[in-house]
Parts: sequence; C-alpha cells; structure tokens
Amino acid sequence: MSSGLATVSYIGATILFILSLGGLSHPESSRRGNLYGMIGMTVAVLATVFGPQVTAGGYAWIIGAMVVGASIGLYAARTVKMTQMPELVALMHSLVGLAAALVGFANYIDPAASSHLSGAEKVIHEVEIYVGILIGAVTFSGSIIAFGKLSGKIGGSPLLLPGRHWMNLAGLLVIIYFGREFIHAETISAGMMPLIIMTVISLLFGIHMVMAIGGADMPVVVSMLNSYSGWAAAATGFMLSNDLLIVTGALVGSSGAILSYIMCKAMNRHFVSVIAGGFGTGSGAPAKPSGEGAQPAGEVVSVNAAETAELLRDSKNVIIVPGYGMAVAQAQHTVYEITKLLREKGVNVRFGIHPVAGRMPGHMNVLLAEAKVPYDIVLEMDELNEDFPDTDVAMVIGANDIVNPAAQDDPASPIAGMPVLEVWKAKNSIVMKRSMASGYAGVDNPLFYKENNRMLFGDAKKMLDEVLVVLKT
Ligand code: NDP
Repeated sequence: MSSGLATVSYIGATILFILSLGGLSHPESSRRGNLYGMIGMTVAVLATVFGPQVTAGGYAWIIGAMVVGASIGLYAARTVKMTQMPELVALMHSLVGLAAALVGFANYIDPAASSHLSGAEKVIHEVEIYVGILIGAVTFSGSIIAFGKLSGKIGGSPLLLPGRHWMNLAGLLVIIYFGREFIHAETISAGMMPLIIMTVISLLFGIHMVMAIGGADMPVVVSMLNSYSGWAAAATGFMLSNDLLIVTGALVGSSGAILSYIMCKAMNRHFVSVIAGGFGTGSGAPAKPSGEGAQPAGEVVSVNAAETAELLRDSKNVIIVPGYGMAVAQAQHTVYEITKLLREKGVNVRFGIHPVAGRMPGHMNVLLAEAKVPYDIVLEMDELNEDFPDTDVAMVIGANDIVNPAAQDDPASPIAGMPVLEVWKAKNSIVMKRSMASGYAGVDNPLFYKENNRMLFGDAKKMLDEVLVVLKT
C-alpha cells in the first residue's frame, strides 16, 4: 500500500472514531457508535499492516501476534460475565500502558530509530520516549491495582501512608532529575540506568496512587486510567511516528479526561484531591469497615414478595433505583417485565440512574437497554431526585452506596458530600438485597433503619420473579 493510500485510510479511520465517540454518547445511538468504531479499527489495522512501515519479513510476526491476541480477546469476550466487565476494562488499560512502556524501551534500544537524529530532534525523540514510558508505567501498575480492587482481590479501603503527598512530590522530583540525566546521556547504555530508575518510580507511583483511593472514589480512577491509557497510546504514536495512533490516543485521552471530570462533578469531588488519594475519608483516616461505626438507630422491617407486589400495585408513582446487585443478579429482564405490567395498570414507573451506580460508567444504562427498557423512562439522578416526595414506592434493586443518606447527614462518612438518590423521601422505600452487608464503599446504610423503609431480602432476580408471579395474578 502506498503511503498516500495509508494516509487517506488513516484519515477515514479517524473520522470513524470521532463518529463512534459521538454515537456512544447516547444509548439509542450506541450500537451505531460501536459499529463505526469496529469499522474504523479494521481500516486502521489493515492500513498499518499493509502500510509502508511494515516490511515483508515482519508479516509472520504480526500475523502470529494477531492470532494470539485475537484468540485471547475472543475467549475473554465470550466467557467474561457482565459483572466482570469493569475489571476486564481495567486489565485492558494495563495492557495499553505495558505496550507503551515496552515500545519506549524498544525504541530507545533500536539504533535505527534514532541514529539519523541529532540536536533538537534527538532531544525531542528522547523526551517522547521518557514521557511515553512514564505514562505507560503509571497506567500499567495503576490499572493492575484497579483490577485488583474492582475484582475484590484487593480491599476497597484506601491505603494512606504517612507523608504520602511528600512521597509523591519526591518521586516527581527524582523523575525530573533522571529525565535530565537521560537526555544528557552520551550512549544508550548510559541512558538505560536513569530510564530504569524512572520506570520503577513510575510503577510505584501508579500502585500508590490507586491504593490510596477509597472505594467510593474508584469511578474517578477508572475513568482517569482510561484517559491515561489514551495518552500512553498517543505517546506510543509519537515514538513510532504513527499519526493515527497519536490522534486515536488523544481522542481516548481527552474523552477519558472529560469523563473523569463528569465523574468528579457527580461525586462532588475535586479531581486533584481524588488523584492525591484518601479524599472522602474524613480526617484522612481510612474508612471504617462496615459495622465498626455507631449502629444507625431504628428497626429493620422486612417484607415478602407478595407484600411488595401489593405496595407496587396500589401505587401511582414508582421510581426504580437499580445498582450493582441488579447486575450481579441479572435481574434487568424481570425488572422490565414488572415495569410493563405496572405501566399497563396505569402506574407511572420511572428509573433513577446514579452516575456511579454499578461498577463502570453507564453500567445500569447498558443493562436496561439490553432488557429493552424504553429510554424515555430512564432518567438521570438530577432529573428526578426532586420527585421522591411525590413517589409512592421507591424500589431499590441491589443498590446501596448510591442511596445512602449518610452522604448528606454524616460529615465524617467516607461518602460525605456525594450526591445520592433521596429514596427515603418517598412515601415508602423497598430495598432489595440479600443481607445487611455494606456496599462497595464499605459503610453502613441508615436507610435500612428508616421508618418508611422495608427490606426485601434475597437474590434480586429470585425475589423479582416472585413479585412478578403475584402481580400477574
Ligand atoms: P453497592 O456496591 O454500593 O451495593 C450493591 C449492593 O448490591 C450490595 O450492598 C449487595 O448487598 C447487593 N447485591 C449484590 N448481589 C446481589 C444480588 N444477587 N441480589 C440482590 N442484591 C445484591 O452498589 P451501588 O450501585 O449502590 O453503588 C456503586 C458503588 O460502586 C459506589 O460506591 C461507587 O463509587 C462504586 N464504583 C462505581 C464504579 C462506576 O464506574 N460506576 C466503578 C468503581 C466503583 P448484599 O450483599 O446484601 O446482597
């Protein structure tokens, strides 16, 4: 393929990626957005593989790597459960970071990549390598820790080392110092030591950064690592002089940064405070594990499926608040069956979606779209939070942190300040979950003890199936 045709293909792929991002901004157009992305990526891969930068000897390597990569990808896509998606995404971010760091080292070692460069051009090339490896290493280790936290392999409470901000600052200064050493190094072997020291510090920084973040602030970290992986890809693009990788990386990097900003706003957090870690843990102490704090006052009243069905049937206005437990139970289809039945009986049913419900941005929207719930009854938190006082039943399905009144009432709570869905203001609230266990942030929920609250204990899918049977009679 001529370089002209490769460039045209790259421009075409870039346009498709932008259309893809546009499509993904709304559930209705998201399938189309995905399709644009897939076509764009196919064009990009073909234009790169058959482009002028690949020589005939490289095909066997590329095909071999693609077969291995595609097989792992296909296997993962088929076997990973919907609830494991967030950790899979974190793992994929880590691979982008690892690739950026490895390409950086390969680029530095390869004499062909820089032997023709001198003066300012050589310095720019070395800065690209240094920054590329730095971002790649932070993304890699940070994403591995995020994977551990999201999959429950690492505890959710923040690790707050004494003097952590000073440690971060010292790490940054050392990285800058060795950056200077690296650029002034006369030979590749002399430059290797500063590069390795910086990589180790960056890896430690990534681990420290994510370990210091409390459970409820994880959504910001997930979107931030998404953004980092984009910048890591862009840095790789600079190192390999691949324009498409630079543009694609910048698109992912900036959209991830915008998402992080939106998440911070939704959580009522300052971006810098979240990155610095430990925000939302009051005086800087780690979050209290569930049950350690003062027991919320009041009594827990449980109901059964038949009583729940009666309450729903007698209502005019119902708001359903889905959370992570709905995803675990895969209850979305039954939820929609119940919604249809109630709507046929003239009940106004709407869904209230918290921006950080579930374990990844848009998690609930994806599940409800899969169950074919009409988009016009799925509303954002801000769109219906004021409607709870006029609501007969607020039905909470496997949600916990996002409906916790402690966020408003308890300034010492790790989730203090986070906007929540005010379900306790409804005439009745019903919380559907299996036990009194806390949610992801690990804090007790006083909602369960409120006078107008009822608990429907059990697996959400099983309980909703029972509610549906009663509603049908
Ligand atoms: P939570 O994790 O707060 O609560 C989920 C609840 O679901 C649990 O208390 C659990 O209680 C219940 N549950 C689990 N399985 C089932 C089941 N099979 N049937 C019924 N209930 C079940 O989830 P929320 O959605 O309320 O809040 C999201 C949390 O995750 C926030 O803290 C957010 O910050 C964090 N987070 C969000 C991310 C995002 O991007 N959206 C990313 C990372 C973290 P029980 O065990 O008693 O059943």
